[in-house]
Amino acid sequence: MSDDQPTVPIVCPDCETESKIPLSEVEGAITRHNERLHDGEQLATVDPAIASRVADLAARDLGLLDEE
Ligand SMILES: [Zn+2]
Repeated sequence: MSDDQPTVPIVCPDCETESKIPLSEVEGAITRHNERLHDGEQLATVDPAIASRVADLAARDLGLLDEE
């Protein structure tokens, strides 16, 4: 467990909830939420306002971006 893990806001317009999830758990958290509460419908998502930043962070995390 490292605590320098960036967190990502997950929003669900249907539940009107927002929660911050560590980047590495985001995908699972969204899937679990949607399966448990919405019958597998893709309602909860990464906050659209930062979705592109998250893709960036994830890419960097995986070493896909080479920039320092
Ligand atoms: Zn929901």
